[in-house]
Amino acid sequence: MKAMDEDAVKVLIIDDEEDIREGCRRSLSRGECEVLTAADGAEGLSVLEAESPRVVFLDLKMPGMDGMEVLAMIRETAPACLVIIMTGFATVESAIMAMKNGAYDFIAKPFEPEQIRLVAGRALAHIRVVRRAEELKRERERTLADLGTEQSRVAAILESLPNGVVVTNAFGMVVLMNSVFQRLFAGGVPLTGQDHISRYIDNADFCLWINSISTGVFMTDGKIPSCELQVPGNGFFLARGQHVLSAEGECLGAVVTLTDITDLKTFDQMKSEFVSKVSHELRSPLTAICEQLSMVDEEAGDAMGEENRGMVRRARDKTGALISLIGDLLDLQRIEGGAEFSQPREVEPAGLLSAMVDFLRARAQAQGVSLELALPPESLPILYADPTALESIYGNLITNAIKYTGSGGHVTVTVSVPDAGGLRVAVTDDGFGIEKKHLEKIFDKFYRIKDDKRRFIVGTGLGLSIVRQLVDGLAGAIEVTSQPGVGSTFTVTLPAKNQVAAEDA
Ligand code: ADP
Repeated sequence: MKAMDEDAVKVLIIDDEEDIREGCRRSLSRGECEVLTAADGAEGLSVLEAESPRVVFLDLKMPGMDGMEVLAMIRETAPACLVIIMTGFATVESAIMAMKNGAYDFIAKPFEPEQIRLVAGRALAHIRVVRRAEELKRERERTLADLGTEQSRVAAILESLPNGVVVTNAFGMVVLMNSVFQRLFAGGVPLTGQDHISRYIDNADFCLWINSISTGVFMTDGKIPSCELQVPGNGFFLARGQHVLSAEGECLGAVVTLTDITDLKTFDQMKSEFVSKVSHELRSPLTAICEQLSMVDEEAGDAMGEENRGMVRRARDKTGALISLIGDLLDLQRIEGGAEFSQPREVEPAGLLSAMVDFLRARAQAQGVSLELALPPESLPILYADPTALESIYGNLITNAIKYTGSGGHVTVTVSVPDAGGLRVAVTDDGFGIEKKHLEKIFDKFYRIKDDKRRFIVGTGLGLSIVRQLVDGLAGAIEVTSQPGVGSTFTVTLPAKNQVAAEDA
């Protein structure tokens, strides 16, 4: 016997004429059907119950239970089953009646094998369409269920985060928030999708920052800065943001997390206070020790003998290094606290730089280094800054250039006015130079390069970090180019007074 295809459709032929049954079996068995037969209505109904065929060919005129009755029973017990009426020409009307009673199709007797195959083919096509529709429906239901699970999973994750999360659209309107954000920032304002972030957080800098992310301003820069936020009554928060991108890479809005950093801030404050207190306490006695060691060196040095004098001088130098470390630490505290270096006024840069270079020339000469200032012929723009900050910036760079250039070297301070305005000061030396791997790190606090040439050079590793913070505070920029064994150039560009005023306006 031919093995049946798993998807074979069961077709039942109910007819009292054996020739018809066999004829149908022969015609249909070749296709995708498994053919079952029954000689009368009662047998047909029991096969129907046992085998659940999808299609029934039903003779109307049969002894015993007639076709109409069988049709009615099938419609009742197996409504999905397609019933095709087989009828002689004389009973076309009853065939029509059968159609009205729910038969799917009919075929007039006598028929050719081709004809019954055609009718069966129509029924099978119908079954395939119904099956496909059922599959699609199941698939849709499954996808919807998956989507529902996914959404509730994402919502659960958002809700379980300890941080506030808020999502804005490309116009800065809040479209999603978790309960932490709701509790901390939203107060009574409900989520409508129509309210700008400024309705929830009343902080101009933060709103500007989130607007910039929402509109994709940072997309070209690659790196999105974080933003600190002080919320009255709720402490300090660190906001980090990302663009929300479409599949095409277009910016649709921003997703922002807010982390409570109040404890960190308090700790930082305590640390700063501690460092500043200890530094102040140490500075006076250390200065006294240093001065006294200098006096001993000067006044009793000759009588001490070379060895003792060397010890006194080393002690004096080490104490001097400690004093400058304390000075740097105090400068850093002031900058970070934002209290000092913040008394800006008009500064004429040529005068300030000339005075500084003259002052530092003695130090350069003591180390066998020449120090020159190259001013341009045109007049320089007036700066608007705290002069102490400017002295610290240029002083640190020139002192470094002198320190890290061996005897016989040259340091030049070149001043120019860039096309975009402002003032550019480049401090160039032909000293030790800096390897590429150190270039990024030299601006970090306490970072010092350790190699044979620098082993005996005293420093704190704080100078350049102070310079960078001061330059940032003045909305300027600092760049460094360097080649080991050839020299370095540190370039600081600061805005002129008229540019600062224009930005503030
Ligand atoms: P410090 O000079 O106290 O060590 P800085 O922060 O001023 O600290 O500088 C960090 C490091 O960068 C220095 O230790 C030094 O090795 C290197 N450096 C700074 N300026 C120069 C320069 N002009 N030439 C070579 N190296 C430099």
